[in-house]
Amino acid sequence: MAAGILADAAAISGEIAELRHSIHAEPEIGLDLPKTQRKVLEALEGLPLEITCGQSLSSVTAVLRGARPGKTVLLRGDMDALPVTERADVPYSSQIPGAMPACGHDLHTAMLAGAARLLSARQADLAGNVIFMFQPGEETSGGARIMISEGVLAAAGDRPCAAYALHVASSLLPLGVLAGRAGTALAAADTLHVTVRGRGGHGSQPHLASDPIPVACELVTSLHTMVTRRFDVFDPVVLTVGTFHAGTTDNVIPDDAAFVATIRTFSAQTRDRVKDLALRLVRQITSGHGLDADASFVDGYPVTVNDQAEFAFAERTSSDLLGDARFLAAPFPLTGSEDFSYVLEQVPGAFLMLGACPPGIDPATAAYNHSAEARFDDAALADGTALYAELALRRLAEA
Ligand SMILES: [Zn+2]
Ligand SMILES: [Zn+2]
Repeated sequence: MAAGILADAAAISGEIAELRHSIHAEPEIGLDLPKTQRKVLEALEGLPLEITCGQSLSSVTAVLRGARPGKTVLLRGDMDALPVTERADVPYSSQIPGAMPACGHDLHTAMLAGAARLLSARQADLAGNVIFMFQPGEETSGGARIMISEGVLAAAGDRPCAAYALHVASSLLPLGVLAGRAGTALAAADTLHVTVRGRGGHGSQPHLASDPIPVACELVTSLHTMVTRRFDVFDPVVLTVGTFHAGTTDNVIPDDAAFVATIRTFSAQTRDRVKDLALRLVRQITSGHGLDADASFVDGYPVTVNDQAEFAFAERTSSDLLGDARFLAAPFPLTGSEDFSYVLEQVPGAFLMLGACPPGIDPATAAYNHSAEARFDDAALADGTALYAELALRRLAEA
């Protein structure tokens, strides 16, 4: 069966690539992707699928019901681009300045549509249902969470017993190599906003003002100290202050100073704890200097956790389909984050990376995902499509 699916995927690799190139040339950002949605609907036309489109986002949910009864498996592909002007030299490069599928989501969409085609052809053998989740707004808008609230997990009737997602990488992994790990796969990413409220005055008379700048500087240093002194190095925290703004000129003490930090964590417990400790530190240091601060967290995506059993299943399936040599056990989680985490909070599953670095380029120095020069090779498409389909087929057969 596995060889059959690889051959069938290879046979439609031309149309998968065509869909990918079409989405790549006209990329769309965020939750509203009308052109991409239309292209997906066209690609699914004629297949025996129950299709619903999102209400508050341009998602596509397609359900394939197998001829035989069984459980339900969910496959997810995200569709959105990034606000980047493409500099990669490819024949299908983005025609829209300021928009580029720089994270390779165009490949995910095309592979998932290809998998829908392969599985539809096997409807008679299929024991159970497959939900194809075509998702907008992965990069910042939490489209997965919105699709869950609009019922994607209930699309087939019973809830999925497993969920899988593939994500291509333009660097680090060689072309066609899968990678992943059981347990924590990606970080949670939250944002800390701090404004220190002082009282402005003359730069020559600081004792008559309340200078917020040294206090804000002390907060930045103390937050870094907190990371190394209060958290286990094996359940780490990554903190980066990415903006810091205060003042207008050298001889004026400003009223306030503000900074914003991204905080990445790898467990739910540490994620909660860092919020508590950071806010306490900000309040206490600020009040120790006689000033006030507004400090708050804006929640990003939760930790992406691969279920042990589902990850082992996905690894076995990948190795059987593509060979042991093409599966790499990732030693560490990635410090990026993913909104597939919302699906994995509710359904056991696995998120795997798929190398798509063009041949002849060293993955170690290739342009990273999100770079204006990132390139993802079409050669990853057929195998990614086959793997999506095989995960669903085999999981339903084993359920
Ligand atoms: Zn991305
Ligand atoms: Zn991505």
